[in-house]
Amino acid sequence: SVRVRFAPSPTGNLHVGGARTALFNYLFARSKGGKFVLRIEDTDLERSTRESEAAVLQDLRWLGLDWDEGPGVSGDFGPYRQSERNALYKQYAEKLLESGHVYRCFCSSEELVKMKETAKLLQLPPVYTGKWATASDAEVEQELEKGTPFTYRFRVPKEGSLKINDLIRGEVCWNFDTLGDFVVMRSNGQPVYNFCVTVDDATMAISHVIRAEEHLPNTLRQALIYKALKFPMPQFAHVSLILAPDRSKLSKRHGATSVGQYREMGYLPQGMVNYLALLGWGDGTENEFYTLEELVEKFSIERVNKSGAIFDSTKFRWMNGQHLRALPFEKLTKLVGERWKSAGILTESEGSFVNEAVEVLKDGIDLVTDSDKVLLNLLSYPLHATLASPEAKPAVEDKLHEVAASLVAAYDSGEIPKALAEGQGGWQKWVKAFGKSLKRKGKSLFMPLRVLLTGKLHGPEMATSIVLIHKAGSPGVVVPQAG
Ligand code: GLU
Repeated sequence: SVRVRFAPSPTGNLHVGGARTALFNYLFARSKGGKFVLRIEDTDLERSTRESEAAVLQDLRWLGLDWDEGPGVSGDFGPYRQSERNALYKQYAEKLLESGHVYRCFCSSEELVKMKETAKLLQLPPVYTGKWATASDAEVEQELEKGTPFTYRFRVPKEGSLKINDLIRGEVCWNFDTLGDFVVMRSNGQPVYNFCVTVDDATMAISHVIRAEEHLPNTLRQALIYKALKFPMPQFAHVSLILAPDRSKLSKRHGATSVGQYREMGYLPQGMVNYLALLGWGDGTENEFYTLEELVEKFSIERVNKSGAIFDSTKFRWMNGQHLRALPFEKLTKLVGERWKSAGILTESEGSFVNEAVEVLKDGIDLVTDSDKVLLNLLSYPLHATLASPEAKPAVEDKLHEVAASLVAAYDSGEIPKALAEGQGGWQKWVKAFGKSLKRKGKSLFMPLRVLLTGKLHGPEMATSIVLIHKAGSPGVVVPQAG
């Protein structure tokens, strides 16, 4: 049966790369009716923290990538933190020692440094050439009696090669000659990373290892350990890097990279999941909009691209807008209303004003946080600045002052407030009459009206926005300053 895992190291925040790896694992498991396991790789005790683990779990839950086994869920293959699995690693290390796949290496660090230097001098690969690979039992006994510290070193075949069929990259082949005998357990009894991962993946019955491309070089060592322990080998799928637009590896200097940062910026989990899926995957059609459920239905690992995917923040933003507008209207108004309230723009997070405002503004926002600016812009008329701008000149010139004067008169007489109180219909009726009195219609009427009333040349439908502005309690007609 299909069992996959996401194995974050809790040494920081969940980044977009990690989130995408988690997503692909999740999609693969769900699409195959398999299990999605979460394993915490906290062997680096100095850098791993429980806070970081909690934050990673929170981010995964926020994205909707719930796991079937792991911290907070439990399961039959636990514990799910490497720091709690030491006894198991020890047990398998002993097994390897018994079968002769590892040997005790008593070399001091000085000796090892020397070995490396000599290899460098002779332009040979930095492989282990010490005597402990072939030492006699008596020699080993002697060191043990002296209490000399030792590591467990894996005996790599001197020649030959190993091939895997990566589900994304195809055939990958390594020669053994440059690898050298590597350490699987340090002299303080700490197992090394590659060994832990292999023991975990095998004992957790992981069928498919889907992870970042940067782990590909580890796969050779891991595969050798699988073979030595007679574990069945899983299928591997190494997902390519996420690149910045300049094709370098995406990093902090390119802007936000963590899931938490995007959440704070106002991104939706739906938008994020959808965009991450498109980083290296597509269903072969033109379609780009998917819900998580649709992704589960469409996803296939064979369609994951082996070249690097470019992270395009403009497209990500746009994609989020698609998901924002796809929300049921009630959800959208709730989200935006709460945002306005928390940002101190409105005192109430719901009500007819919020509903109408969202109706007017929704097409102009991609992030829920965009709505602040759009609303504030609409409610505050940067009229003078706009009218003075060269772009506005053609609309302002000529008879704009005439329109403005009549507008002020109509407002002062109470005619406009009365019309606005009747809603959009009232406003439309008034505009018609107003145009007639000035002998203006179409663009020559609407353009000056828009500029005078909203301070902008473009914007949402006038009738809706003007009623909205009126309701917000800041109506009025501002006479443009001459010049
Ligand atoms: N803990 C590793 C990481 O966070 C993942 C290792 C793996 O997936 O094999 O990069």
